[in-house]
Amino acid sequence: MKTVNDFNFKGKKALIRVDFNVPLNENFEVTDATRIEAAKPTIYKILEDGGSCILMSHLGRPKNKEEEFSLKNIVKKASEILGVTIKFSEDCVGETAETAAASLGEGEILLLENLRYHAEETEGNRDFAQALSTLGDVYVNDAFGTAHRAHASTSIIAEFFPDNKCLGLLLSSEIENVNKVLSDSKKPVTAVIGGAKVSSKITVLENILDKIDHLIIGGGMAFTFIKAQGGKIGGSLVEDDKQNLALEILEKAKQKGVEVHLPIDALIADSFSVHASTEIASSSDIPEGWMGLDCGDATNRIFEEVLLKSQTILWNGPVGVFEMEPFAKGTIHLGNAIAEATKNGAFSLVGGGDSVAAVKQFNLSKKVSYVSTGGGAMLEMLEGKTLPGIKAMQD
Ligand code: AMP
Repeated sequence: MKTVNDFNFKGKKALIRVDFNVPLNENFEVTDATRIEAAKPTIYKILEDGGSCILMSHLGRPKNKEEEFSLKNIVKKASEILGVTIKFSEDCVGETAETAAASLGEGEILLLENLRYHAEETEGNRDFAQALSTLGDVYVNDAFGTAHRAHASTSIIAEFFPDNKCLGLLLSSEIENVNKVLSDSKKPVTAVIGGAKVSSKITVLENILDKIDHLIIGGGMAFTFIKAQGGKIGGSLVEDDKQNLALEILEKAKQKGVEVHLPIDALIADSFSVHASTEIASSSDIPEGWMGLDCGDATNRIFEEVLLKSQTILWNGPVGVFEMEPFAKGTIHLGNAIAEATKNGAFSLVGGGDSVAAVKQFNLSKKVSYVSTGGGAMLEMLEGKTLPGIKAMQD
């Protein structure tokens, strides 16, 4: 697959699918510009070559062209970040967009209005993709966050650029870093899978068993495993219908020689609240009326020990309800252990919405090797799927 580094953009208009789906406050101001920052290297490479950039993205899930989903809201912030006054087209296709694109000069950036103001985008409509394709000379996909969707702008459009399509630098580094865990990993490899539900991570768990030596299971999902093994979990989060699946995973892990580490103790609470009374209990002997909301100290130490001897680490999902301060300690401890292992030479990849939020909240972003920008897309890659946005670049 080609990247932007394989092209010279002098005099060319690059049509770039970016992921500017950023959070806005009630005044429609950008509150977290990470995704805009992440697109910088690709945009700069094209501008430095003497090309121009036409940026297209979605923002939220509009139904009726609501104002709050207009990409106009982000023009000011994106212009500040990129150091270029960005031009804006009120529509992403049709005459307005065509005129704006045609008059774009060297070194200029044009942002198109929300792609999802047209239902054809998510439907993967071919005519809509073709209409978009007329705007640029080279198609660049730099949107990892939507690479798992077969939408018009993320995959269908590529067919109109058989020789002039490439990956942006963000998308190519995301692929490279996930592959460092999946195919070129140094052993021992440890995956930490946490979060609320077994059901949302089950395919990942199954696919990565072939690639890892240690599996740390934490967070709410651990209790389905603990209950399935006969533990008493009180009122902890559980998916009763996933107990057999949990036992199957444990059995498969055993067959494949993967060591599974489940919490042995838990910080339990008498309600799901920052004001709850708390105690430490065995994670398989939680009284009725109490629920496990974080790992206990003994568990934290075991997880740390495993992580410190790992050479490759994948972290997806918090090991406790880290959004509430009393239940954040386990996730902080785990994050620090991953940072320490990284300092000692391990490669660490953090991905999935909530672990990324945790890493940011606890200032660990610079202490891990790579923080993925795409939650769903990363999970699907870990599940072993070829993402439509990436496949379109291979064909
Ligand atoms: P996920 O989106 O599946 O990665 O889940 C993330 C969510 O899991 C976070 O909002 C955490 O608060 C939540 N979580 C983590 N541990 C627990 C737990 N022991 N009980 C309930 N929720 C949890």
